[in-house]
Amino acid sequence: MVFRLLRPDASKVWEDENIISRFSRYKGIMDGTQIARYLIAKSLECEFNPQDSLDDLEKLLQEKSIEFKDLLMKEVPELKNREIIPNSYLKLAETIAYKYLESCIFCERQCKVNRIDGNKGYCLLTKDSYISSAFLHMGEESVLVPSGTIFFQSCNFGCVFCQNYDISQAWKNRRPIEEVARKVSDKQLAILAEKLADKGALNINYVGGDPIPNIHTILGSLIYQNINICQLWNSNFYLTEQSLSLIIDFIDFWLPDWKYGNNKCGKKYSGIENYLDVIARNHKRVHDEGSGEIIIRHLVMPNHIECCSKPILDYVAKELPKAVMNIMGQFRPVFHSSNYPEINRRPTSKEIQEVKNYADKLGILWRPVS
Ligand code: SF4
Repeated sequence: MVFRLLRPDASKVWEDENIISRFSRYKGIMDGTQIARYLIAKSLECEFNPQDSLDDLEKLLQEKSIEFKDLLMKEVPELKNREIIPNSYLKLAETIAYKYLESCIFCERQCKVNRIDGNKGYCLLTKDSYISSAFLHMGEESVLVPSGTIFFQSCNFGCVFCQNYDISQAWKNRRPIEEVARKVSDKQLAILAEKLADKGALNINYVGGDPIPNIHTILGSLIYQNINICQLWNSNFYLTEQSLSLIIDFIDFWLPDWKYGNNKCGKKYSGIENYLDVIARNHKRVHDEGSGEIIIRHLVMPNHIECCSKPILDYVAKELPKAVMNIMGQFRPVFHSSNYPEINRRPTSKEIQEVKNYADKLGILWRPVS
């Protein structure tokens, strides 16, 4: 296949015993010996009425999450024979997502606007989701390519150095979103995902911008998808605890960004509060309670080795031993970086090497995917 010529490391990486053991379930889905989590969730019956109170629905979600984890322990042939249920655990999560949209708390900005009624918070999205592109991505980490990548328009962050600023924010308050991206329903998103799978994608990779403001559409699309393929969440990870609860059991592979090692840099460069507290909390949760198959992307920023890179690596080594890291050296001073002299350059090779040496010192696995 062409991708093997473009990315010979994509095959070779699976000779690495550490990668095989850390990503065994993901590999099993690719080999057909495991079943994607969202398909299993569709067979877990859930009796509820969409008119039930949010409290009751959230309590039921917690109970079903425990049942779901028991179900994951069953043998694959038994799971394969289970019937798909219309009122499933997945449907319950989608129902709650639409309730959250009435006072949006998908991310920790917690704008609490009614997006169903057409109101907009920081991300400037109503209930509709828009995508800027979808294609087989050959540039993702070795274990992921070819990746069926779906780029959502808009973001809940305002990073001054955003490398994808055209999708995330440059259009805001300049052009209507309809002019720069294509609206998708949950069903259309499912068709798109299945087309990418038909073309050879190893995973469906929800990214942007950021997928967080589109949780409801993504959950809705999973109800229509039927292919045994890994579902991958590629995000800034600034979810609320409630919204993470909606997706934690259905995502097979996590690809979070971890940019800053403190709250102050998060406020200064992305305009958000409590960055470190939220991001560390969410990483810990998907590591301990979710699939635990994670590649953390860390973009090395100039002059931010001591305040950001090293504290992140310290946390990963101590709290997230199953995670693999991608230490990225491709920071470029784009968008509004020139307003911040300390980041208005590329990181030096010495800075990047210092971070990699520190990761080695802590025993963090990064080479196979960086
Ligand atoms: S997704 Fe985040 S930024 Fe967008 S409206 Fe909801 S809380 Fe606000």
